[in-house]
Amino acid sequence: MNVLVINCGSSSLKYQVIDSVSEQVLAKGLCERIGIDGRLTYQKAGLEKEITDKAMPTHKEAISLVLSALTNDKTGALKNLSEIGAVGHRIVHGGERFTKSCVIDDEVIKGVEEVSDLAPLHNPANIIGINACRELMPNTPMVGVFDTAFHQTMPEKAYMYGLPYSYYENYKVRKYGFHGTSHSYVSKRVAEIEGKPYEQVKTIVCHLGNGASICAVKNGKSVDTSMGLSPLEGLIMGTRSGDIDPSVIEFIAKKENLDISEVLNILNKKSGVEGISGVSSDFRDLIAAEGKGNRRAALALSMFSYSVAKYIGSYAAAMNGVDVIAFTAGIGENTPSVREEVCGYLGFMGVDIDEKVNVHVHGEEKLISAENSKVKIYVIPTNEELAIARETVALVG
Ligand code: ADP
Repeated sequence: MNVLVINCGSSSLKYQVIDSVSEQVLAKGLCERIGIDGRLTYQKAGLEKEITDKAMPTHKEAISLVLSALTNDKTGALKNLSEIGAVGHRIVHGGERFTKSCVIDDEVIKGVEEVSDLAPLHNPANIIGINACRELMPNTPMVGVFDTAFHQTMPEKAYMYGLPYSYYENYKVRKYGFHGTSHSYVSKRVAEIEGKPYEQVKTIVCHLGNGASICAVKNGKSVDTSMGLSPLEGLIMGTRSGDIDPSVIEFIAKKENLDISEVLNILNKKSGVEGISGVSSDFRDLIAAEGKGNRRAALALSMFSYSVAKYIGSYAAAMNGVDVIAFTAGIGENTPSVREEVCGYLGFMGVDIDEKVNVHVHGEEKLISAENSKVKIYVIPTNEELAIARETVALVG
């Protein structure tokens, strides 16, 4: 079966068509600037990328253009739309209600709407994408795969905040965690590679991309993760601050004459390694600047590795040990210096990285720990689209 995987943002939409048998990507691309002017990127496997400016007033036109490109006579990957057996939608926030992926019907859409106040930027965009697909492909089954679902196994002591209990009861204020599809995919892959039952491995997955989070996966279940009610909590990230003293918000608001939303916008979009360095959120730029002696770029890089190492240490304690540390996503897969610096803090737990192997590993599945390391260290490229396609087929196949 071919699965169309849709990841819909407020003004962009990423898509892939995956053959679920061979697990090959048949075509992929991106719609950008939806509601502004519109640009479609389309790439059939084995061919060059095509980029065209196309009017996309809403997500419906964007998806309609994607479907036309996919079935185009010359470069289309499909003959017609009936070759799409199902659509898998990434949905950011499932609240406490969605503990696993599910077939989308009116009830599910209502449920996603009901938790939209927890992800006001993301969930409405996801729903718009789902509705547009349902309109254009009314007879094709659709599945929702939630970023938060994998973390619903966290124990209460891990997900509760030290706030008045009524905020949890009345508003469901708690830690939810994100990147669940990636943490689940990578931790399962670790067990497969190790040849052990998923239920018998303790893994710490470090998903280090522009958005970054860490997850403690004990015996196949997420038991703690670094992001919280929103993706702002946890590690210092590309432009997000990660953990700070909440008092900073009022302090800055007063000093800079800003309201809470404006300060939060700064914490989300102008902080992190970009805010510290004043150079960029991109680790390639930071490493280049550090090489030229930029002190603040060096500081940003060292703060990042330090925060990753501290989370790994705390999650090893949370699980009373760790068998495997896995690095994934843009930085985790491609930046040996970060992996080496992070592991350098963890020698006390018997973590020993093979520096000679590590330095050459970019975007490939590889064991990078030394033979005598007590904890195995892997680089495992994540593949959230494939994970969504697999979940989709499991539910409607
Ligand atoms: P997101 O999906 O959250 O936008 P990614 O997983 O794509 O983020 O990660 C983006 C980060 O990964 C950037 O900081 C970028 O510098 C880094 N990155 C991506 N590719 C490479 C590469 N080939 N070499 C070094 N860093 C890379």
